Amino acid sequence: MSWTVLKFGGTSVSSRERWNTIADRVRHEQAAGLRPVVVCSAIAGVTNLLESLPEAARAGTDDELMKELRSKHSALAAELELELGELVVSMLDEIGRIAKGIALIDEASPRTRARLLANGELLSTLIGARFLQTQGVDIGWLDAREAMVAWTRKASSARPAEGDETLGDEPQRGVRWFLSAEVSNTADESLQDRLAERPEKALITQGFIAGAEGETVVLGRGGSDTSAAILAAKLQAVRCEIWTDVPGMFTADPRLIPSARLLRRLDYDEAQEIASTGAKVLHPRSIAPLRRHKIPMVIRCAPNPAMESTTIEALPNRGAPQVKALSSKGNVTVVSMDTVGMWQQVGFLADVFAVFKAHDVGVDLVSTSESSVTVTLDPGTNELGDGVLEHLAQDLEPYCRVTITRDVAAISIVGIGIRSILHRLGPSFEQFEEQPVHLVTQAASDLNLTFVIDSDRKERMLQRLHSELFQGVKENETFGPSWRELFAPIAGTAKAHRRRWWELKRDELLVIADQQTPAYVYDAPTIRGRAASLKGIGAVDRVFYAMKANSHPEVLDIVSASGLGFECVSPNELELAKGCLGPDLFANNLLFTPNFAPRADYERAYEEGAFVTIDNLHPIERWPEVFHNRELLVRVDVGVGRGHHKHVKTAGAKSKFGLDPTQLPELKRLADKAGARIVGLHAHSGSGISTPGAWRDIATRLAEYADGMKDVRLLDVGGGLGVPEKPGQTGLDLVAVDAALREVREAFPISEMWIEPGRFVVAESGVLLARVTQIKRKRDVTWVGVDAGMHSLMRPALYGAWHEIVNLSRLGERATESVHVVGPICESADVLGRGRMLPPTDEGDVLLIAVAGAYGRTMASEYNMRGIPREVVLDA
Ligand code: ASP
Ligand code: MG
Repeated sequence: MSWTVLKFGGTSVSSRERWNTIADRVRHEQAAGLRPVVVCSAIAGVTNLLESLPEAARAGTDDELMKELRSKHSALAAELELELGELVVSMLDEIGRIAKGIALIDEASPRTRARLLANGELLSTLIGARFLQTQGVDIGWLDAREAMVAWTRKASSARPAEGDETLGDEPQRGVRWFLSAEVSNTADESLQDRLAERPEKALITQGFIAGAEGETVVLGRGGSDTSAAILAAKLQAVRCEIWTDVPGMFTADPRLIPSARLLRRLDYDEAQEIASTGAKVLHPRSIAPLRRHKIPMVIRCAPNPAMESTTIEALPNRGAPQVKALSSKGNVTVVSMDTVGMWQQVGFLADVFAVFKAHDVGVDLVSTSESSVTVTLDPGTNELGDGVLEHLAQDLEPYCRVTITRDVAAISIVGIGIRSILHRLGPSFEQFEEQPVHLVTQAASDLNLTFVIDSDRKERMLQRLHSELFQGVKENETFGPSWRELFAPIAGTAKAHRRRWWELKRDELLVIADQQTPAYVYDAPTIRGRAASLKGIGAVDRVFYAMKANSHPEVLDIVSASGLGFECVSPNELELAKGCLGPDLFANNLLFTPNFAPRADYERAYEEGAFVTIDNLHPIERWPEVFHNRELLVRVDVGVGRGHHKHVKTAGAKSKFGLDPTQLPELKRLADKAGARIVGLHAHSGSGISTPGAWRDIATRLAEYADGMKDVRLLDVGGGLGVPEKPGQTGLDLVAVDAALREVREAFPISEMWIEPGRFVVAESGVLLARVTQIKRKRDVTWVGVDAGMHSLMRPALYGAWHEIVNLSRLGERATESVHVVGPICESADVLGRGRMLPPTDEGDVLLIAVAGAYGRTMASEYNMRGIPREVVLDA
């Protein structure tokens, strides 16, 4: 009978729902003919409580902690409909007594601390085992101290075997022995036999703890992952599953970068590198035991058991060279040691590293040159308090000049064969242009490239590098869906979300769909609502609607009636806007902001009485007469980076839009010569910006440029106001935007402030209705074909945009199938949504694609001659 190990972390053992999942998984593995061993952490937060108990006991606040500890366990027991049980009660009492003992003798030895800590896992498994038994699971409780025997002096049979990487020097009985115990990961036949004799079909045991010479020891914080891996190795299990809050490892920390993609398959070495360089999904020590025995590790998302996840295994040839992830560590210390003496000298490195050893300070990264050595210290493994660094520096002084830089951050680019793909990373390195880089290292394993930079740049840098490295990445066998794609639909169902207009008007929409699909439907009240909220931004004097987002005449009428002007980019748009505004509304309500347009367009715009924006020297240099006696606005490229110096060029340099700010003096000279007046500066930093501070930054930058340009009276801070795309997401906080812009207006003498949003005004008002044409099941993938496609809505194909898709015909039914929704166009990119959860869907059903009011119909094409969707506006 083959073993399988299932490990459940703290939050995965803290509610009835999770314990139901555990029961399900045990049965699932049994049905597959396997014998499961469930390894559990303590209930979330319990180890922390136990860890702070000695301190609290000394301070006399242990009773409060004990209360919390009891209530956490009683709450879970109550949820599981169990009595706490004698054993659990007496264990809690004992913890309380130990705390009193600590208070009495004012001392907590490592031995006592280990004994305290071990209780967390003992308690959670005692409660859990009883629950599983009440659910009819044939499972027995196993004391991990019998299975996991830490390496001790006496038990020399457990000394490291060849390749047993978890074991270091023979440990002393002290802090390390009790609190960072080491357990052999060699296959253990005697354990296999003993466990095979147990009568129960499954076992449940504790992570984190082990036995040694009759003592209880622990593996170090986060040690349960390692316990599971070692147990899997000892039992030669077929698989080790780590059940946690997230479905796996991502290309970057998804809390920081929601577009980070799930990594579907990783080699052990890569996973080790990602775990070691900062990702917190797995404990770095848990990988080696599995790698040694080639046991696959599968990470699984406990809140969503069906969600796809990361598998870590031995890839053939470790896989192709490729950047897989970005990871980072904060709170890193850099020690630089400079000397001229090192040149042609023997033993310098040995001398200085001996000093580190003497101070018990571990070194993480190292880089050397002829005259200096720079290293980083990882705070995770070093206690750097109490003058440790100062003493270290003193002892290093005889050998070199020492500089210590604290609190910097290390960013690592991780992937197999990184050296062979350096050339592909070229553009990404531009991101470091303005960063002081304290240290660069390239691992000898050819798995990572690490940069140490200032802490306050870390997040921004990760975001930029991530988009540089992974923007174009498509789903394949390595890269899965993004965090956003995985979680947004769930967040929506979990929250009792505000009902969207299309939920309320479902019946009308189905009638429209019956007449003809595909069709765009726009909701007039929604448009009015958005327009009104923009008009409500007090710091903004004028709002121009960027009509390229949606130029349906009725939509334009609604927008114009709401008091917004129009921003146009072509003569045809000007024409349409003019028809809509009527002659009275003309003046001041038309803004022309083209890009690389021919001369005649500018002439035309001035004739129409529009404000005209240029973003290049060429027009005014070559056609000065067009601008003679005219006012104009200039669109400057303020770069995408925030918080940079005003003269610094950033990634914006790659965009075709905007004038390089360094060319402003030249433009001014040309404008003077042409007899034109530059009355406004404009910037547009991108789309979907949901941080209000971004507008403060843009406005400030523009105001700084305007300083010294005497005719400039207005600033146009552009559009790009973020729109909630996912159910449950909250929209951009316009009040905060207002406050941010007010700040700038107070700091600078600006007489007018403009904005020119498009998407914000219309996106949520529009949906695309499509009818299901065919269902295809190929291997384990289900494709749902609809009569709309990339020709109707191009954003998914063009930008990888995510649009919510629901089955309108079956609205409210449980979404149980994961499908790819595709159109009829002869292109592989013709995918409207990947991996979407829908109820069982059939030919003839109407699917609704949400937030499609902007850049939907206006980007539709005639490709494949399938025609353009019709449009309907619903009012009231
Ligand atoms: N309960 C232990 C801790 O919180 C071990 C673990 O959960 O991995 O550190
Ligand atoms: Mg953990």
